[in-house]
Amino acid sequence: MIKVVKLKASIPPGFVKAAARELRKNRLLLKSGTKLKFGAYLDPIAKIQLNEIFSRKCAFCESVIAGTQPGDVEHYRPKGKVILDGAVGPVQPSKPGYHWLAAKWSNLLISCADCNRPRTQPDHDHVNRVIGKANFFPLRKEASRAKGPASLWLEEPLLLNPCIDDPDEHLVFLDDGRIEPAKVGDDLSEKGRATIRYCGLARSELLQMRARHRRVVMAAIRHIVAAIECDNDPGADLDDLLSMLSPSEPYVAFTRSLVREHLMDYLGSLKLDAL
Ligand SMILES: [Zn+2]
Repeated sequence: MIKVVKLKASIPPGFVKAAARELRKNRLLLKSGTKLKFGAYLDPIAKIQLNEIFSRKCAFCESVIAGTQPGDVEHYRPKGKVILDGAVGPVQPSKPGYHWLAAKWSNLLISCADCNRPRTQPDHDHVNRVIGKANFFPLRKEASRAKGPASLWLEEPLLLNPCIDDPDEHLVFLDDGRIEPAKVGDDLSEKGRATIRYCGLARSELLQMRARHRRVVMAAIRHIVAAIECDNDPGADLDDLLSMLSPSEPYVAFTRSLVREHLMDYLGSLKLDAL
């Protein structure tokens, strides 16, 4: 997970008006106790724009979406309902969602199905669990959950938002690709811990993908180190590594971590602005 800049200028033409229209209709439905309808966020141009902004990668796990799956337009704050923390079983206690944010540009991300949809998947310990952000949106204090836009600022979300938070401050990678909450002061980051848990950032298949990615990155690093130690130009290997450090590449947060760990002593002789 990396920080991503989402400019207001990226909002597709007509999207804000369509969102406002939908919100007006939903307010009427809400008053009459009828189920709300959401569709404005499914604007195909919006999805194209979001895919561009997130470089066709999942906003949470950085897996490539393009060419493998359509990708989900994900609501950071769930639109319909919020499943409360610890809810398991057929009856899950819930609260109303953030309907007024259903087509709010700042609330939309792109996610892979595995991070977003609740599915049974092998977790880091190979035990099958239901993993996926789904309609979870944990807060530091449940009592502060907003019932409308005016009280949104009181919330302290526990899920990282890549357009607001710096994931580097909350997540750390171990050398083998495992992920853990970072230390914040004397404690471990609550946001890091919750994001790993709800988005399944330590799920088994994702760990395998990162382990594969590590082999490619480490091959480049080894060749670069060998070249530097022999006073040779690292040439194409350095070019390869710089490409893998581009924010548009998969698992770039992990790549950055590997470079810091294994190239730190050589950084002086390399120009790695990407770090
Ligand atoms: Zn993902």
